[in-house]
Amino acid sequence: MTKKVPGKSSNPSETRELEKKVFDFFTLSQLGKSLISIQDMDNLARIFASSVYETSDAKTVALLIYDIEEKAFTYHYSIGLDVEKAKNVRFVEEEGLFWRVLNGGEPFPIKDSAGNYHFEKVIRKLGLDVLDSQIWVPLMVKNVLRGVLTLGEKKDGTPYDDRELVFTSLLATQAAVAIDSAILDQQKSRATVALGRKMENLSVLYDVSKAMNFMNDLKKTLLLILDKSRSAVNAQKGSIMLLNKETQLLEVKVVRGIDPLAEKKINDGEMECTKIRLGEGVAGKVAETVQYMVVEDTRKDDRFKKSDASNVQNIVCLPLVADNECIGVMNISNKVSGEKFTDEDVSLLLTLAGQVAVTINNANLYHLAITDGLTQLFINRYFRQKLHDEILRCKRYKHPVSLILTDIDHFKKFNDTYGHQQGDAVLATTAKIYKKIVRDTDIPCRYGGEEFAVILPETDAKGAALAAERLRKEVEAFDYPGLKGEKLKVTISLGVASFPDHGDDVEGLIEKADIALYACKEGGRNCARVYDPVMKKQ
Ligand code: GH3
Ligand code: MG
Ligand code: MG
Repeated sequence: MTKKVPGKSSNPSETRELEKKVFDFFTLSQLGKSLISIQDMDNLARIFASSVYETSDAKTVALLIYDIEEKAFTYHYSIGLDVEKAKNVRFVEEEGLFWRVLNGGEPFPIKDSAGNYHFEKVIRKLGLDVLDSQIWVPLMVKNVLRGVLTLGEKKDGTPYDDRELVFTSLLATQAAVAIDSAILDQQKSRATVALGRKMENLSVLYDVSKAMNFMNDLKKTLLLILDKSRSAVNAQKGSIMLLNKETQLLEVKVVRGIDPLAEKKINDGEMECTKIRLGEGVAGKVAETVQYMVVEDTRKDDRFKKSDASNVQNIVCLPLVADNECIGVMNISNKVSGEKFTDEDVSLLLTLAGQVAVTINNANLYHLAITDGLTQLFINRYFRQKLHDEILRCKRYKHPVSLILTDIDHFKKFNDTYGHQQGDAVLATTAKIYKKIVRDTDIPCRYGGEEFAVILPETDAKGAALAAERLRKEVEAFDYPGLKGEKLKVTISLGVASFPDHGDDVEGLIEKADIALYACKEGGRNCARVYDPVMKKQ
């Protein structure tokens, strides 16, 4: 183990390479930070395009973004192009190879080495030749195409190399998240004007939408930093382990550089790795002492726990520290060339581990902000945002999405009889029952008070009615433990409404589910009903 103060590399070409890596990383993280905080689409487009222009050597840069009102990709900003011509670029998605390549999410050349367009017909038909582009970089969020960045030929005429393409694609990933968030904000502000909501509501909504993007992209961000970390020090493997506060065990959350199938399963949360106790092996010791460790040869080092990672020759393990507390560790192992980790490597990795810790800490704070304390279900604002997103997605793919609104029967009387504390316990238990019964892709939320909502993506009214009936039966059959050891009974009523059958926006669906719920109450309670136009409003 070495823990010297990292010094400067003496070899100039090594130093240059290191500087390049640091530059790449910092441009990436700084741009990410500044973009996340920009809500205004025009500003966002300008800053992103300028950053790409400055860092890419491209003669021209253009940014096209999907416009939800126009339902088309439209010109937003460019550098080096004739704006008068370029500003009219507008196209809608069609069938065909060009679109499949674009939706593949990877940067691709639009011209061959002789300067001829690969998709000549499409390019000419849509008038995209005014963009004078060489490379197209799709901007994807959650597998949905949100825009395109185009790069013209390089100033020195040389072709783009892999490093430049990867870097631009990483910048694009950051920008896409920000653009997605700006699109959401645009939608929200339009909806807000329409509904005449107050300004304070708006600011709260902004926070929640940012929080959601953050949560959704947490794993992606961690994987991105892990990839940057591996490539920065030329290492083959990497993993991030988080400390479970309750069990005090380290659990692997994301991993890179192992068998691809296992890697996908672990990263998707479908497979668990061995958990490590504090003080056990290298990772356990690092988490316990909050000091990084470098093991140069695992075969000769007893501190290395053989069972927890096979095929590890050398490893740097760094503590992740947030608010003076160790929240996990980052492992980077197996330098590709088999050489030792240098002081520069460690210094760089310490910075990156800091970035990981901040990212995770923010995500934890966001999680707290969107979760209801009593039931651990999502709060109402998140519910509305999520339903909005699902409806948008389902419109795009012509899939159904359903909503179940539920309300506990005679809960006022229950509170009066057994006390508010017992009532609270019933709410928490009911939330657990919901979480157990619904599918992983369904989203149970606390709508308010003793009313819960469940969003069922990809589910039509028939499927949602079955799910509602399952919930009803489970609650009816459940013996709620009383505070005095007695068994208590509770029933619920459930209203179902679906997109596209019963409504095509958030308020419409909620209204219809509420009408169906009211019909249940009128009809004697403890039942589930799908909205029907003959049902009357309250
Ligand atoms: P109904 O069958 O018509 O739904 O009758 P109800 O008594 O349940 O009527 P309603 O849904 O209007 O009443 C809601 C009651 O739920 C009022 C309140 O006492 C109780 N409640 C709401 N939020 C909470 C909570 O957080 N904790 C507890 N213990 N009770 C709550
Ligand atoms: Mg109620
Ligand atoms: Mg009730």
